[in-house]
Amino acid sequence: MAESMQGLKRTHRCTEVTKADIGETVTLMGWVQKRRNLGSLIFVDLRDRSGLMQIVFDENDIGSEGFEKAGTVRSEFVLAVVGRVEARSGAVNEKMSTGELEIRATQLRVLSEAETPPFPIEENSQTKEELRLKHRYLDLRRPDIQRNLMVKSRVATLSRNFMAEQGFLEIETPMLGKSTPEGARDYLVPSRIYPGSFFALPQSPQLFKQLLMCSGYDRYFQIARCFRDEDLRADRQPEFTQMDMELSFVDIDDVIEVNEKLLVHLWKEILGIDLKTPFRRMTWREAMDRFGSDKPDLRFGMELHNVSDTVKDSGFAVFTGAIAAGGSVRGINVKGQAGMPRKKIDSLTEFVKGYGLKGLAYLAVLEDGSYKSSFAKFMTPEELNSLVEAMDGERGDLLLFAADKDKLALETMGALRCELARRLELIDQSKFEFLWVVEFPLLEYSEEEGRFTAMHHPFTMPMEEDLPYINTDPGRVRAKAYDIVLNGCEIGGGSVRIHQNDIQEKMFECLGFTKEQAQEQFSFLLNAFKYGVPPHAGLAYGLDRVVMLMLGLDSIRDVIAFPKVKDSSCLMTQAPAPVAAKQLEELGIQVKQS
Ligand code: ASP
Repeated sequence: MAESMQGLKRTHRCTEVTKADIGETVTLMGWVQKRRNLGSLIFVDLRDRSGLMQIVFDENDIGSEGFEKAGTVRSEFVLAVVGRVEARSGAVNEKMSTGELEIRATQLRVLSEAETPPFPIEENSQTKEELRLKHRYLDLRRPDIQRNLMVKSRVATLSRNFMAEQGFLEIETPMLGKSTPEGARDYLVPSRIYPGSFFALPQSPQLFKQLLMCSGYDRYFQIARCFRDEDLRADRQPEFTQMDMELSFVDIDDVIEVNEKLLVHLWKEILGIDLKTPFRRMTWREAMDRFGSDKPDLRFGMELHNVSDTVKDSGFAVFTGAIAAGGSVRGINVKGQAGMPRKKIDSLTEFVKGYGLKGLAYLAVLEDGSYKSSFAKFMTPEELNSLVEAMDGERGDLLLFAADKDKLALETMGALRCELARRLELIDQSKFEFLWVVEFPLLEYSEEEGRFTAMHHPFTMPMEEDLPYINTDPGRVRAKAYDIVLNGCEIGGGSVRIHQNDIQEKMFECLGFTKEQAQEQFSFLLNAFKYGVPPHAGLAYGLDRVVMLMLGLDSIRDVIAFPKVKDSSCLMTQAPAPVAAKQLEELGIQVKQS
């Protein structure tokens, strides 16, 4: 039967009790991790968010009624225990931070009984994630998840305080906004007052933070929930949290400076690690050429080589054909892997096929200096030698090549580079390699839509020296955009914004908007710009991702209290769910039966 606290007050969390408290009486409250009966003694490990404390029930201290009650408690019962702090009488438990202490109970209240949970509440749970997410309120009791959320809370608090010290104002922007055609798919919210009209949940506070700059707030910060109705990939969630900022009267270097300071502060405070600044910077072009990725993982080498010039006149038609068609041949040198069995090479070929590449050409430089290769018979010994030389190939190396359209060859080899590093365990997991990727293309051509789309968003400033090409050769225009990359993941991105109406108009033109369409969609921003707008720039982090990488975790769901699963549903609440006919009626909505 559940008892009340009856005036008891918790004095400590479990692990807040220290050796200095020996001899003192404390009151702890928490959940039963486990109970052991050893004849005249009952031991209970009590758990709260700080950790565990061993409680000893001895009939001599607690009396027969209390002792009997202690014998009935089971895992996940909620207890209040009053007792004396003592040095452990039995063996010290080195694994527990309170392993040298125990509490000799003098009072016990069972605040809540508990059914047997569907899975054990323990660190590094082996229980299937589906079951854990269904009972997330239990899963959230696990110490590792609790630690993750506590770190996330600290990151938020530290960031808020740091940004306030740097003169940033925390200002909220609306959740109910207007749907805009650019970017990902919006989550829509039907309006009851205007049947047939919809709000959109924000994909980011982008336009509002730019308006705040127009209104003179000059440094804005917000930890903002954002929504994107995309098909979920492994590390995405339909709702996620951005640490968002915007600054007036600044250029790229100013944004980078403040953000390096913020990241240094967070890594120092939370992990005790001194990050070296300035972080490396690399242009998008260089990142693509050297790593086949706009978010290169710099914890290992294995860079890509462009061997197109070396093989363009060779006898291997797969190479020459790709180059003649305007593509390229990109290779990676997998050091010391010349002996990789054929089966493994085949599985790499399967891997690249998943990216759309037709095949993977290989050349192994054997220990005796001879070559074993899928294409040796098509090339002369001289051609092979110069290819090996261009790849810095040495005895024992395995050289892998992709020949195709440039973008496909690059991206596939970039992905293969990371896959090989994982399989060969080349990644130093203790490293944090930060990188700014700069000078992104302003636009990218979408075959699907038959037009250019903004690579970042339509408000990103082109680089001044590329402005003359914006109408004649939009594809070559670079943007004043930057991403902050950590260990091969983009953790944030931003740009200097267009603050001149004429450039903004040109940008809309490039994106295929008529003047009227641009006015209709963005009139409030364009109008605001007419009344005095400062040059401004900003950046947003994916907070969940920052915390995930900081803690070396693989899943974003481990840093979100109530995450969604792959199909964007919530296993615990069963959202989304149908609503009552009356609700639909009020909204003027009729659901099509499919
Ligand atoms: N709003 C942008 C985004 O969500 C970030 C920025 O440009 O500040 O990616």
